[in-house]
Amino acid sequence: MTKRVLIAGFMHETNTFSQLPTTLDSYKARTLYYGADVATHMRKGKSEIAGFLDACTRHDWQGTSPVFANATPSGKVTEDTFEHVTTVILDCLKDQGPFDGICLALHGAMVCTHTDDGEGELLQRIRAVIGPDVPIAVTLDLHANITDRMAELADIMVIYRTYPHVDQYEVATQAANLLQRTLLGEIKPRSLVVRGQMLDGADHGRTTSPGPMTEVLQLAKAGVAATPGVLAASVAAGFPWADTPDTGPSVVVVGNGISDSCKQLADRLIAEIWRSRNRVTLELQTIDQAIAAVTAAGERRAPIVLADFADNPGGGGYGDGTRLLKAMIDAGLQDAAFGLLYDPVAVRTCIEQGLGAHVVVAIGGKIDGRYGEPIPVTGHVVAVTDGSLRLQGPMMAGTRIEMGPTVVLRVGGIDIFMTSGRFQLYDLNFFQHANLDPRTKAVVAVKSAHHFRAAFAPIASEIIVVDGGGGLTSRNYKQLSYEKVRRPVFPLDLD
Ligand SMILES: [Zn+2]
Repeated sequence: MTKRVLIAGFMHETNTFSQLPTTLDSYKARTLYYGADVATHMRKGKSEIAGFLDACTRHDWQGTSPVFANATPSGKVTEDTFEHVTTVILDCLKDQGPFDGICLALHGAMVCTHTDDGEGELLQRIRAVIGPDVPIAVTLDLHANITDRMAELADIMVIYRTYPHVDQYEVATQAANLLQRTLLGEIKPRSLVVRGQMLDGADHGRTTSPGPMTEVLQLAKAGVAATPGVLAASVAAGFPWADTPDTGPSVVVVGNGISDSCKQLADRLIAEIWRSRNRVTLELQTIDQAIAAVTAAGERRAPIVLADFADNPGGGGYGDGTRLLKAMIDAGLQDAAFGLLYDPVAVRTCIEQGLGAHVVVAIGGKIDGRYGEPIPVTGHVVAVTDGSLRLQGPMMAGTRIEMGPTVVLRVGGIDIFMTSGRFQLYDLNFFQHANLDPRTKAVVAVKSAHHFRAAFAPIASEIIVVDGGGGLTSRNYKQLSYEKVRRPVFPLDLD
């Protein structure tokens, strides 16, 4: 008999140190679809939702998708916003139920103004409607901070295994296949989670080069194969820029019921993450080191890519920090591009002056001057766009992005891509849709920590990751005032 499955997504990676609240407008600015629009916009592409929808065809499920909501990382999700999206899901469960199973695309690091455990709260509200027996399958970002409540309430939890994240579709397919086996009565899955005394670990989840994350993922895979009754084992590297009791790396094991062997596998994997906690594959440069390397590089056939690690909007950074940009301007870099700088006020000023105009304007640094003051510049407006573009991937290929008005302001030898929306820059099309071809530049700076590698590594002659300090996504955790995280914890108290 055809099974009825609810498919929904409600995602946020919350940087609790950010002063920017996450509201419904934040979701509208990135992705917010209701009802039939979810499938219309997401059936193609490589998202979790596409994976779940294809599972409907494969398993002959009747899928119902009330909502998909995702916002750029920022501060806590307001209670109103959480209630709005949650209510859409709950109303669907009540009005269109009963359902045989639930598929949820979550992030796992959502903090709200009224709870530190957004996903746990959502799952609890869903369970209150559907009861304990309807199976729930959840996919999570590799930077999830997973709570015991989430593991208790979700039968199946599977986490991305790639960073940059390019396996959302595969992970959703895996979760959906486990749900199908559950619906057929073959298995009765249960999830368990274990954490260590760590705020960060597993090389922050990087899988682009061999290292702690790829090694622990291999152990997880081997553990699943070797342990009867284990259905899946996942590793979350955690999201350290969130001050909650459960922040940090964790291991989730899904068993056909919870057995000692599930717990032993989870303990073994978290012990491995603890053992490798000081091993990182990424060497961060100071701004001075990066500028010196660029100026010493001479002619290149392909651009040097600078990553502005400490102000990554993809981790909740404001995206308007000016330290790296100011150093590039002061150094007189030529044939360079910088993207992006979030500054809706400066964008409006440039648009009012018009394409081709020479404008005098202060750019960036408007949200929190601790991360770089506004820079007074005189520049030439060389492009104006409506900020509507489609990502070419590899990450999130096919996804449409609406950034709001954008401009390219040429200051000296630097084309600065300024936007009215906060986005991490991880796709060539952010630049290209504004007629700015990063492949032809000598230097390209991006506000991104790691996701940019999927698209930019193939065009780069060299990548330099810059931690200018003082940003909301700096690796210098000791500069942040943690109050809720369990102590002692690495690296704040433990080495
Ligand atoms: Zn992530």
